This record gives sequence, C-alpha cells and structure tokens, in this order.
Amino acid sequence: VSGIEEYRKKTPASFEFSKVSRNVMPGGVTANIKFFEPYPVIMKKGKGAYLTDLDGNEYVDYLLSYGALMTGHGHPKVMEAIRNQMEEEGTLLFGTPHHLEVEMGKKIQQLYPGMERLRYTNSGTEATLLSIRMAYAFTEKYKIAKFEGHYHGGYNQVLLSVNPPLNEAGPAKNPNSIVESKGVEPYNIEHTIILPFNDLEATTEILTKHKDEIAAVILEPVQGGFIPAEQDFMEGLRAVTKKLGILLIFDEVKTGFRLGLGGAQKVYGVTPDITALGKVVGGGFPVGIVGGSKEIMDISAPTAASDVFDNSQSKRSGAKDVLFHSGTYNGHPTILAAGLATIEVLEQEIDNVFETANQLKSGIRELFLQKGINVQTIGMGSIFNFIITEKEKIQSYRDLQESEFGLRKDIDYHLLARGIYNKPLNRYSLATVHGEKEVDRTLNALKKTLNSLF
Ligand code: PLP
Repeated sequence: VSGIEEYRKKTPASFEFSKVSRNVMPGGVTANIKFFEPYPVIMKKGKGAYLTDLDGNEYVDYLLSYGALMTGHGHPKVMEAIRNQMEEEGTLLFGTPHHLEVEMGKKIQQLYPGMERLRYTNSGTEATLLSIRMAYAFTEKYKIAKFEGHYHGGYNQVLLSVNPPLNEAGPAKNPNSIVESKGVEPYNIEHTIILPFNDLEATTEILTKHKDEIAAVILEPVQGGFIPAEQDFMEGLRAVTKKLGILLIFDEVKTGFRLGLGGAQKVYGVTPDITALGKVVGGGFPVGIVGGSKEIMDISAPTAASDVFDNSQSKRSGAKDVLFHSGTYNGHPTILAAGLATIEVLEQEIDNVFETANQLKSGIRELFLQKGINVQTIGMGSIFNFIITEKEKIQSYRDLQESEFGLRKDIDYHLLARGIYNKPLNRYSLATVHGEKEVDRTLNALKKTLNSLF
C-alpha cells in the first residue's frame, strides 16, 4: 500500500477539515508551503516534541514550524517569560522603544559581532527585504545577486530561481533567472542575478562582469538549512565581494541559532556585511532582525528632517539621506521576551540538540545501509536532511535534483502514518525536547517502513 493511502486512512478528520478550509482560504492554506497532497494534516495540540492531530494521532514533530521552534512546544521557561512580560507590564505593546529591544540587541551583538547595530522586523521575509534595501542605500547600486535554489522569503526581488525547472534553468555555471510565482514583475529578472552555489570560479566571473550594478550578494550559508557552503567557497566569496565593492548578506533566518548560537558566521569564521535573522529568535512568534556594521546600519538613523509623517515642516529636507524603515509591531515586547527565554534555554542545552541530531542521522544511515540503499544525511547542527542518491556529494540545487524524490516521498507518508511528523520531502529540525525516546521511536517507524517496502 502506498504511503499516501496509509496517511489517508489515519487522517479522516484532517480530510474533512480540508473540505471546509478550501472554502475559506485558497487551497485551504494561508501559506502555499503549508499545502501538501492530498491534504495537509491538521494539528490541534502541541507539547514538547509532540503534536496531536484532529484524529487524536500523536506525532514526533520534526517540522517544528519550519524550524522556528527550537525548544519544542510550550517550553515552560518560554511560556513563563511570555506570561510575565504581559502581566508585569500590563500591555502587549507600547509603541515606544522598550528595554527588551536593548536587552535582545545586546545579546545579539555578543553572539553576532558583525551586527554592531540592528533593527527588528516582523518576519524573516522582512529581514532580508530590509537587508537588500540597506545594501542599495549603502552602495547606491540597485541589483542583487542570489544563488540558485536559495530561498529568502516570498517577495518579488528574491522569488526567482528557488526551485527552477531544469529544462529552463540554463547552464549550471551561469544559471538563468527564473520567476517562481505569478505576479512577480518581469523586470525582476534583470535586477536579480543568479549565481551557482559552491562554484567560486563561476560566481566570481558573474560578479566581476556585473560589479558596477550589484549592490549585494545574498545567500543562505547552508542552502535550505542542509546543503552547506564549502569552507573555501565561503572564504572566497567573502574575499571577492570585498574586492569588487559588493556587500555580502547572510540570510541566517534558518541557520541563526540552529547551527550554533552564533549562526553560520561563527561556524565558518566569516563575517558578512549584513545579517538577517528570524525564526528561532522569536521563540515561536513572528520576528526578524537585521544587523550590520554601524556605518551601514546608521543610514536608517532618523533625523527631525527625515520624518516622513511630520507634516509640520513646510519644506521637508533630509528624507532622501535616510533609509526609511518602520513597522507598528517591530520589537514587540512579548515576542522578544519569548526569544530571550529561548536563547537562555539554548545556552544550556544546544549541545544536546546537536548530539541527538547526530544519533538520528547515524541511525537513519544504518537502516538504509541494511537495505543496500545509498543515502546521505547532510546538514549541520540541529538541521539535516536525508537524501536518497547515488551521488557522492550534494553541493547544489542541481545535485539535489538527481536524488530519488519519489521513494523519499513515499517513505515520508509512511512515516506520517506511523506518527513521525514532517511535511513530505522536508528537512528535519530538532529541538531541546528531542531525546533518545524520540530518536528510538523515529528509527523504529523508519525500520518498519523500510521493511514494508523492501
Ligand atoms: N530566509 C530563509 C533562509 C528562510 O528559510 C525563510 C523561511 O523559511 C525566510 C527567509 C522567510 O522567513 P519568514 O517565513 O519568517 O518570512
């Protein structure tokens, strides 16, 4: 029986829900990535490493809200911090600067020394968006370069060549810029230049050719959270961008805290000009943080003359010298309280998460090996993926396309039916609440699945 059929049998209530939700939201979901065939499972309760769905099935959660939850569901210390902040301060929101903005900011400055000054946003998407505007403002150039296969959020400048069809993607060393969504203005194709990940020579060639137009290179240091940049590639990219007068933006929305408290930049020993953070640092709430050198970030420092909303000045001047950045909810106190509590827990327990991830990875390799199937568990720190492939090394989006997606997907549905939660084909994210018990349960489900298939 196929994995999808097993999944259907276990989740009739989610199916019934999907019939209703489709009449409310397009596709029944409020984010395209939350959809999968034939309908997504609907959860109703979370505790620690576990989720319970509408049918009462219990799952070990490895999606963790696309990596956002690194202390699992309802961690007592995080919940306490949220409650305390709301109760002690008597409000959710002041609309003024707040002590937690500075407290979190100091913590970030310690962990990410390149983030000398920072600003808060409401999502990872907004964080990369602001990073790019910062780069435009600083360099006074108005194109960006991104890598094929890298995701930086759902807006028009970066929704290109994230998952391009290979027959349209052009040469590996000089990829085409492919629009990924309806509604993206075609001029973005010209303004977003696509680079080949982990290919320093080809990347250097493209950057050199366009150096006078490109404000910044933006990348995920670990693509999708699981395909790491090679160390030499990372160092080379830092050197070449510096030499060409192009800024380097690390999108650490996924890798921040998950690769280590100091993110990928600490692991690689490479400091970008601008960093975008998100996910984990919001403790389960929406957040983004953008930081960089004082010189770059201070472009957004307001002056009286730059106040866009101050109509009192008959001759407003100075706005054009300042980068405008705003947001009603930026630096939301409850979110920062949850984020700070999350970091505190991680400071004590992050090594355990890495240890558990390693145990799970080696268990998965062992089970596939027993069946004579080639599998690679790739990724660092608390995120990894297992790729069924004959290839020796996965270094890019195109390498990944050569893997056995069909088999992997079938396995994923079987795992869903056996109480292991992830979106099919998704990477695995771990949290402080995963331990031996969850690893055993997961490997047991995988073992049964592989035995049923082979
Ligand atoms: N950048 C990366 C690397 C991401 O993984 C994501 C989300 O998955 C984003 C940016 C966008 O973040 P958000 O979903 O918070 O807008």
